[in-house]
Amino acid sequence: MNNHVIKASNFIDGKWDEFSNNTITNVNPATLEPVSTINISTVEDVNRAVESSKRAFKEWSSFPAPKRGDILYKIAEELKKRKQELSELMTLEMGKVITESEGEIQEAIDMAYYMGGEGRRLSGEVVPSELPNKMAMAIREPLGVIGAISAFNFPVAVPSWKIFPSLIVGNTVVWKPSPNTSGIAAEFVKCMVDAGLPKGVINLVVGGEDKVGEALVSHPDISLISFTGSTHVGQKVYQACAANHKQVSLELGGKNAIMVLEDADLPLAARAIAWGAFGTTGQRCTSTSRIIVQKSVLEELTPLLLEEVAQLKIGNGINHDVNVGPLINKEALKRVEQYVELAKKDGVPIHYGGNKIGEEGYYFEPTVIGPVSPSSAFATEEIFGPILSIITVDTFDEAIEVNNSVDFGLSSAIFTRDLNKAMKAVRKVDTGIVYINHSTSGAEIQMPFGGTKHTGNGKREAGQAALDTFSEWKTIYIDYSGDLQRAQIDVDFA
Ligand code: NAD
Repeated sequence: MNNHVIKASNFIDGKWDEFSNNTITNVNPATLEPVSTINISTVEDVNRAVESSKRAFKEWSSFPAPKRGDILYKIAEELKKRKQELSELMTLEMGKVITESEGEIQEAIDMAYYMGGEGRRLSGEVVPSELPNKMAMAIREPLGVIGAISAFNFPVAVPSWKIFPSLIVGNTVVWKPSPNTSGIAAEFVKCMVDAGLPKGVINLVVGGEDKVGEALVSHPDISLISFTGSTHVGQKVYQACAANHKQVSLELGGKNAIMVLEDADLPLAARAIAWGAFGTTGQRCTSTSRIIVQKSVLEELTPLLLEEVAQLKIGNGINHDVNVGPLINKEALKRVEQYVELAKKDGVPIHYGGNKIGEEGYYFEPTVIGPVSPSSAFATEEIFGPILSIITVDTFDEAIEVNNSVDFGLSSAIFTRDLNKAMKAVRKVDTGIVYINHSTSGAEIQMPFGGTKHTGNGKREAGQAALDTFSEWKTIYIDYSGDLQRAQIDVDFA
C-alpha cells in the first residue's frame, strides 16, 4: 500500500462511519496496486442517510438562496485549493489520464461557481394575467431529498452536475457513487464539508449492483432520483421510480458518431476523431464510437486518422505525456476483447490495434475497424472502450439516416465546410447534443447536457436546464381587484 491509499465509508449526518466488515478494495487500473478501500453500505445506512437529509432539508431550504450560493463559492475555492491532489487521486483510482482528471476537477469548480451565482438569480416568471388587477407568476421550489447515483467514468464532474444545482434550489442530497470510484467521491464530499456545508445537506452511501442503489431508488422519502449510468441499469431504475411515483432524471449510454462529408477539413477531422474515440480510453458517454464517412474521401481520411492514432501514447495516466490510460477493470477489458474477437470472426478489417497490452494493468490498444455494417453489433451497441468503427455512405442524407439509426441519442458531430449542410444536419440529427467541426465530446457546464431515445428521459443536467430538473414550479396568482374574477369566463375578448 502506498501513501495515496484512499478510503470511503458512509458520510451520514455530518460524520464518517467506522468501517464494517463488508469492504471492497479497488486497484489502480494502471498498476493493479490496491488504491482504495470502500465500505459497502447497508439498507439501514441508506435509511439513516435519507432521514438525515430529510431533517436537514427544513433548515437548508429556508436558508436564503444567496447564502446557499456563498457556500457553493466556498466549495469552488476548496476544490481549487485541492485540484492537483484530487486529480492525482482520480487518476490513481480510475485510470483517467492526469490532464483529463485536472479538467474534470475544473469542471466541478466551474459548476460550483455557476450554480453559486444562481443563488442571486433562480429566475422565475412574471407574466400578464388575462384579468385586470391580477398578477400571474411562477417561482421555483425545491423538491426535497434528491437521490444521486453516478457512474465510474466521470466520478466528480457528473456528480457536481447533480449535487450543485440540487443544493442551490434548496434540496438536500444522498449520493451513491460507483463503487469503482467511491474513494475520490469521499474526497469530493470532504471538500464540501470543509467548505462549510451544514450537516445532513450531503450524505454519502456506497454500494455496487446491489441493495444500496435499489434501496435509494425505492425509498419513499426521496423525491427525485438522478441517475447516470448504463441504459440497462437505467431502465430498471426508471421502472422502480415509476412504481414508487418518484421523479427521475436519466443520463444513460451513447453510441455517438462523427459524420465526415467529402468537403471536410480531413486533417482536422482525423485529429478530432482520434480525440473523440480514444480520450478517456473510449469510456465517455460521449465517446466517438462510429465514424460515418462519405466513400469518396475514405481513402484519404484513413491514413490521416491512423497517423493520429499512432501518435497516441498509451500508459499510466499519472505521467503527463500519456494520452490513453487503462480501462477501468478486468470486465471492461474482457468486453473489448470480445468485440475484437467478433470482428475477426466476421472478417471485419482491423486497421489499427486490436490487442491487449502487457500483463500489468488493463491496457488495450486504440483500435480502428471497418467498414462495418450500420446494423452490426459494432455499429449499434455501446462498447465503452477504445474501439472505433468505420461506416461508409454515399450521400449526406444517408449519413444522417445512419447517424440516427441507433437506439441511443446523446451526441453527434459533422465535419463539413458547407454551412447549409452543417445546419441541415444540426436540425436533422436526433441526439441531444450536436457539434459542427468538432468531436462528439466537449460539453461545457453552462449548457444543457443530456440525450434522447434510450440515452435519457427528456431531462437535462447542466446549465439553466438543470434548475428545471431539480426544482418544481409553483404558480402563484394574486388577485387584488377585491372582486371575484373568473378566468376565461369574466374575460371580454373581441
Ligand atoms: P452502471 O450502470 O454499471 O452503474 C451506474 C451506477 O448505478 C453505479 O453507481 C452502480 O453502482 C449503480 N447501480 C447498479 N445497479 C443498480 C440498481 N439496480 N439500482 C440502482 N443503482 C444501481 O454504469 P457504469 O459502468 O458505472 O458507467 C458507464 C455507463 O454510464 C455507460 O453506459 C455510460 O454511457 C454511462 N454514462 C452516461 C453519462 C450521461 O451523462 N449520459 C455520463 C457518464 C456515464
